[in-house]
Amino acid sequence: MSVTERMFVSKNLSVNEKGHLVIGKNDTVELAEKFGTPLYVVDEELVRENCRVYKNAMDKYYGGRGLVLYASKAFCAKYIYRVVKEEGLGIDVVSGGELYTALKADFPMDKVYFHGNNKTVGELEMAVENGVGNIIVDNIYELERLNEIAKAHGVVQDIMFRIKPGVDAHTHSFIRTGQIDSKFGVALENGEAFEICKRASEMPNVRVNGIHCHIGSQIFDIEPFCEAAEIMMNFAGDIKDELGIEIEKLNLGGGYGIRYTPQDDPVPYDDYIKHVSEVVKAAARKRGVKLPFILMEPGRSIIAPAGITLYTVGGIKDIKNVRKYVSVDGGMGDNPRYILYESEYDAVAANKADAPKTEKVTIAGKCCESGDLLIKDIMLPELHVGDTLAVLATGAYNYSMASNYNRIPRPAVAAVSDGKAEIVVKRESYEDLIRNDL
Ligand SMILES: *Cc1c(COP(=O)(O)O)cnc(C)c1O
Repeated sequence: MSVTERMFVSKNLSVNEKGHLVIGKNDTVELAEKFGTPLYVVDEELVRENCRVYKNAMDKYYGGRGLVLYASKAFCAKYIYRVVKEEGLGIDVVSGGELYTALKADFPMDKVYFHGNNKTVGELEMAVENGVGNIIVDNIYELERLNEIAKAHGVVQDIMFRIKPGVDAHTHSFIRTGQIDSKFGVALENGEAFEICKRASEMPNVRVNGIHCHIGSQIFDIEPFCEAAEIMMNFAGDIKDELGIEIEKLNLGGGYGIRYTPQDDPVPYDDYIKHVSEVVKAAARKRGVKLPFILMEPGRSIIAPAGITLYTVGGIKDIKNVRKYVSVDGGMGDNPRYILYESEYDAVAANKADAPKTEKVTIAGKCCESGDLLIKDIMLPELHVGDTLAVLATGAYNYSMASNYNRIPRPAVAAVSDGKAEIVVKRESYEDLIRNDL
């Protein structure tokens, strides 16, 4: 690894002889000039590499008896479905809109897993009509609706249940909770999960072929995943013993942490499956259940490190002894994660990427909210009007969470790969903004 590569939180970035930040062999300053700012940039090579790390780990540690699902909500567009389809992944979708996008990208429906804690009747019908491979049922109400819909369509729908395993994963530790407070899924400890499996086993138009859990996001430990896997396997043992339902698939969700700032220390992605597969194999032997097909659902870890957002610096406000604000031409409309969670990001002055970091500034957006910041208190070289700023690791939960607040059009998405750059999502126009206004 060269020195310039180690300078940044994401490994796909470097600096060229002009001192400009480079992604996917593209000069980011040239990208900003060519396509305008703000601009989301996705490094396709890194997306593909991340897909392969998970896929190869599944082959290596679990004999390929599994499927990696890309969690679409991290970044959903026809483009990404084409890429993950080529990489042989499945997808998880959480809404009719994501499902529609996948349909329009010709994504194979048997590899689609439909999540959500309150799918509408319309969404369930859409899923059944289009032959979605698996629906992860969240609650009894949904189970009943789905059974009726499947019956009306004359099909037996494969389903899984979303289970709360009682593992509460925090960023650097985890605690077991007796009763988890969550709007998602059915609980194990009060018998809710057992009851819903029993109900489903009596319904003619659904077939329980798996169980699912998702314990959180941006997790940096392996233990909570191992613990969840063990709890889920024990539950599989229980429902086999008591209900005669043999689980075929174990879906362990996503949540694998990534490096947003130099302080973050993520686990190599293949380590998760390495450890979890040992737990699953041991538990299967112990409980006398057959080895399940494993699904995992990484979203953030596939796409976040591959993305950056380019902005142009505008007004700079140096409030003496208080704070120096550097405003850019985007903000919470294209990246609402600071205003939502006070998320931290790293940034690079893209047109002087190797300049020493000499001052502490706060990067502000252009929206009419004091909380519209992108980064609070970051060390950067002195910035001037017209500089290009790159915020790093923005590939996940930025474009997908973007809004038109203040009637600001959403930026374009450019995919870069081996020196080539192409727009894969067009920049919104003012005309787009009023398209549905009557
Ligand atoms: C959000 C979500 C994921 C992906 O989580 P990441 O933290 O992006 O990996 C996977 N599965 C389910 C059910 C989710 O809700």
